[in-house]
This record gives sequence, structure tokens and C-alpha cells, in this order.
Amino acid sequence: MFTIKDHIDVQDNHLTIGKADTTELAEKYGTPLYVTNESRIIENFSAYRKAFPDAEIYYAAKANGSLTILRLLARAGAGADVFSYGELYLALLAGIPREKILFNGNSKTDFELQKAVELGIKVSVDSRNELHTLSEFASDCGKTTQIAFRVNPDVSPKTHPKIATGLCSSKFGIPSKEVVKIYQEASELPGISPCGIHCHIGSQILETEPFTEAAQKMMDLVEKIVDIGIDLKFVDMGSGLGIPYNKAEEAPKPHDLANAILPVFREKTQEIGISPKLILEPGRYIVADTTILLTRVNTVKKAARNFVGVDAGFNLLIRPAMYESYHYVLVANKARSAPDETYTIAGPICETGDILAEDRKLPGIVKGDLIAILDAGAYGFSMASQYNGRPRCAEILVKDGDTEIIRSREDIEDLIGKQRIPARLL
Ligand SMILES: *Cc1c(COP(=O)(O)O)cnc(C)c1O
Repeated sequence: MFTIKDHIDVQDNHLTIGKADTTELAEKYGTPLYVTNESRIIENFSAYRKAFPDAEIYYAAKANGSLTILRLLARAGAGADVFSYGELYLALLAGIPREKILFNGNSKTDFELQKAVELGIKVSVDSRNELHTLSEFASDCGKTTQIAFRVNPDVSPKTHPKIATGLCSSKFGIPSKEVVKIYQEASELPGISPCGIHCHIGSQILETEPFTEAAQKMMDLVEKIVDIGIDLKFVDMGSGLGIPYNKAEEAPKPHDLANAILPVFREKTQEIGISPKLILEPGRYIVADTTILLTRVNTVKKAARNFVGVDAGFNLLIRPAMYESYHYVLVANKARSAPDETYTIAGPICETGDILAEDRKLPGIVKGDLIAILDAGAYGFSMASQYNGRPRCAEILVKDGDTEIIRSREDIEDLIGKQRIPARLL
């Protein structure tokens, strides 16, 4: 019928996650509902750990910045890749040590750079302009900030154009041909210690060749910057490892990624005679398949298509609308029933593009059924909004059948938030 993940199962025709019955979860906590299986996070992290025993693993907080998830990963020994002061704050609050954090971003604010200097956080510098700003801030307060440069290695992975970040046309990083010059410049500036190099070629990449290509280009640059006297302490290869959203897809695993980049890394570091730390920054792989989104059927309608109207839309899971991405969908209360119709699952948002899944063969669906959207843990809740006046939903954590709320459902008051009406209009 279908292959479900190890930690997602079916009992009495009901979908279960981490041994909890999803129909009971929906009853107890209401819908829409994000449900995360704790053990799966640890399994995914361990797979990386095992594939890269000598590397540091900096979890990309933007994939899912839930405090509890950051806390679990902190306890498992992860570092963090952060993209804003907000993510930095959450990572530190969750207990990720500051030495294991890299502050990324192509357009950091002065405030963010100052915070990085103050807190002693490594910075991945994205431009010459930023380099000089950072040098000023650091020397002004008598500190030295460790930096890497985000390098644009110009490789083109086959992925959605919106998540390919290492093309020469992308907004990220320093073009390869300017890399040596900028390290030279950095080594002469006060307050700056250029001791790392960083790249990140994209996301949801399902082949290993682009990683090998990026590793080769990076290691060539490493040789050149070591040649000009840079004392290189770390090489950060970023991330991008995809997952099989579509069960027909073959996806490489962390050990395949290791086979694609470790030989290149080891050979070159030995040849040059240096021993920098390898850093990897997985986001999606760690969290994507740990989480499902449960959504209740409001209405079923035969029109141009067989539309199933559910209570979650791109306000809670924007990936299908933004990246045309595929999520496996099933009817949680009829998990093993034979499919007998083709349905399109539509969200409640007032936009034609608010479709979560198109033309799926599913068992007969009626109002009140429960739909489960799989692999919703990465770039799901972290991209959620209150669009259309819809408070964000709750997130719960499951472990061996026990459940806890890790983020309460927002209520109508939360829509007001920090808004105020000018006095003259009252
Ligand atoms: C988004 C991002 C990641 C994580 O990418 P995934 O594909 O989710 O693993 C890692 N590093 C940087 C710099 C990123 O921007």
C-alpha cells in the first residue's frame, strides 16, 4: 500500500506517531496541530553524528526554531547555525554553547553584528562591507571576532530555484575569484580573526555530486588561503541534504553525504598539512520527517476537482505554495483503507494557490475526517503566519505515547498582538 516511516505507524486503521493515536491527539488538542516525535529527532541527529564522527554538527535553527527542539538538540551535542539575533537568542536560551554557533546572513543589522561581537559568536561574513563594519565594532570594544567568509562556490544543484543558494547569480556569499583577496584584507584588519571558510549550496538536494563539486571547490580555496598565511580552524560545508518527500524518490542519507565529501576533505587537508574542524549545518534532514501536521476536513466539494477543504493552509505550511513541494498525505482515521477517489486538499486561505496536495488517491473522505500531512517538520511552523486572521496552531511533542504541548495554540487576542489604534481614531 504505502511505506510509512518507522516511527509513523497504523493501528486499528488509525495513523500513529511515536505510539500516539493521531485521532486521539486531534480530539485532545484540537486541529490544526503540529505533532513532533522526539525519538526521531535524536535518530536523525545520530545518523549525522555517526556519518561524521569528527565533525561538529550545527543545526540550522531556521528549519524549526521551536525551543524544545533546540533544547533536545543542545542536549544531544549539536551546535547551531543562526540567521538572526532572534535565532541566536533562542539557541542560547536552549543551551547551545556559544562556541558552537555560527551567525550567518547576507544582510545582518549593525545591532546583530554588535551582539555577535559582544557575545563572542563566530560570524560568517557575507560581504566586504560587512567585514569592515564588524572590524570597527570589534576593535571599538577591544575584542577579536572569529570569522569565516561565506563563499559562493558556483555549483548548481538540481533543486527548486528558490532554494538553490550557491549559483553564481545568488545573493549569498563572496564570489570565488575574490576569496583570496578578501582573506588577505581581513588578516590585516583589527578585531578580526579570519579562521574559517563557509559555503551552503542550497536545500532539498537529492544527489551527491553537487556536494562533491562544492567540496572540491572549497578545498581548492582552502589551499589558496592557507598559502597566504591564514590559520584555518574550520571548514563549514553548510547543508542541503534532501529527504524523500515523495515516497518514490531516492534520497541520499548522511553516510552518502559523508562518502561524497569526506574523501575530498581528508585528502586535501593531509596534502596541505592542516587539521581544521569540519562543520556541517543540517536543518531539514534533522527535523523534516519527525513531524506531521494534522488538519480536520471542513467540507468536501466536487467542482473542477474533488476538493477537500481542511483547516490548515499555507498560513501553517507554505512549502507547497511557495516551492511547489510535495508532501505525502493520508487520511489519519482511515489510514489503511483502500484509496477510491482522487482528491485535492485545499486550505482555508483566500488564495487560489492555497493547495496542500493535488490529485491524490485517497479513501472516501467526508466532513470530520482527519488528514495527516507528513514530513512537515522543516520550514513548516517556522514559516507560519497569521494571514487571513488565523491564529497559529499548537505544537506538541510525542515520546513513547506520552504527549506534551511545546507551543500553545494562539488565540484571538494574539491577532491584536502589538497593534494599537491611534487615539484620534477612538
Ligand atoms: C538554510 C541553511 C542551512 C540548512 O539547510 P537544510 O537544507 O535545511 O539542511 C544550512 N546552512 C545555511 C547557511 C542555511 O542558510
